[in-house]
Amino acid sequence: MPEFQTSPGMRDILPPESGRWRRFVEVFAEVVESAGYGQIIPPLLEDLGVFQRIGDATDVVTKEMYDFVDKGGRHVSLRPELTASVCRGFVQHRPLTPWKVWYAGSQFRYEKPQRGRYRQFDQVGVEVLGADDPLLDVEVIALGWDFYQRLGLTQVRLLLNSLGEPGDRARYVEALRGHFESNLDALSPESRITLAKNPLRVLDSKRETDAPLVAAAPRIAEFYSDEAAAHFEAVQTGLRAVGVPFVIDSSLVRGLDYYRRTTFEYQGLTLDSAQNALGGGGRYDGLVESLGGPATAGIGFALGLDRTLLACDDEGVFPAPSAGVDVFVVDTTGGSEALDITTALRRAGIRADRAYEGRSMKSQMKVADRSGAAIALIVGTDELAQGVVTLRPLRGEDRQYPVPRAELIESVEKALT
Ligand code: AMP
Repeated sequence: MPEFQTSPGMRDILPPESGRWRRFVEVFAEVVESAGYGQIIPPLLEDLGVFQRIGDATDVVTKEMYDFVDKGGRHVSLRPELTASVCRGFVQHRPLTPWKVWYAGSQFRYEKPQRGRYRQFDQVGVEVLGADDPLLDVEVIALGWDFYQRLGLTQVRLLLNSLGEPGDRARYVEALRGHFESNLDALSPESRITLAKNPLRVLDSKRETDAPLVAAAPRIAEFYSDEAAAHFEAVQTGLRAVGVPFVIDSSLVRGLDYYRRTTFEYQGLTLDSAQNALGGGGRYDGLVESLGGPATAGIGFALGLDRTLLACDDEGVFPAPSAGVDVFVVDTTGGSEALDITTALRRAGIRADRAYEGRSMKSQMKVADRSGAAIALIVGTDELAQGVVTLRPLRGEDRQYPVPRAELIESVEKALT
């Protein structure tokens, strides 16, 4: 055992897997930038208060924060999510609305590590601030859906709900409180604590003990005002129009205390039910205001990279891109020819590698094979004397031929096409 290893719930992402992570973010960027979203890169660390505004009934805030007092005496925290940072950024910079941004990066939550649940994990997401149009909800939800399609995932289910207007939600919360309080004995101890803080969150309970009571709870739909019902209807009509299938799930309330109207979640059907939320989001009000800005409508989602890649593995889609080189230079004359040739190839934009430490021809050819290169360029004493390089295809046909040094780049480019 080495003395130092990664902390629990944290991992090194090594090649070629790391190439897959980079590609994941690139594909996400392509999808959302095609809809006019620009990237925001907030700091990893903020004043603790920024994240406390998310709400004090969420585990993220009460139990899982990586917070500490820095050398200047500031109480700060590594970010557990990015919505609060984006809203803080909106208040700080006052951009024109609607402000459409996307992000990618690591989040930190002190959770119990298990498959699909880590203490450092990555998310990509979008937020739109300053527009309340139901067709914006449709745009945001469809972007997440289309992203999963682009990855090649088919086993994804979109769950949709509306929490109504804040007034509807408040009446519903009271009805829920009544329902759960009159059946307190049947509720798990954890959910009893949650109930005291936020009855809505009891619906989020994944504990089996709570399942019958959650199933028998009143439905939010009975409490919708006309306005909320119309908004929800418009979202559903829009999703149908753009061909995004969804299932209404009235128990979908999600973590944030500020959620109102539309909430949604993308489930990975191949994953264990406790960790099957690939991502989710919804509309929120009040977050910008609570951070000192004007009353501002917001909507967004965050998609978990780690879990989505587990789902990709399950479906055998979106493999790691090949990290290998195109050309491998084998030099048995000392190594400085390999330096010249790899340098020239790389400067011409051709991926090239070589062996080091003056190994034998046989051992260099082995490394060349393992490198995944399509071509080996061989320089021995004969080649050196004749001013040529032997070009040997490593895959398929096995015919090698000499190439004059002066025509090397052109010959390699030709052989690679
Ligand atoms: P949330 O910000 O809690 O709504 O989470 C959004 C998505 O981030 C989830 O659906 C997961 O895919 C991912 N996620 C949240 N927490 C973790 C974690 N501890 N480990 C891995 N992924 C996570």
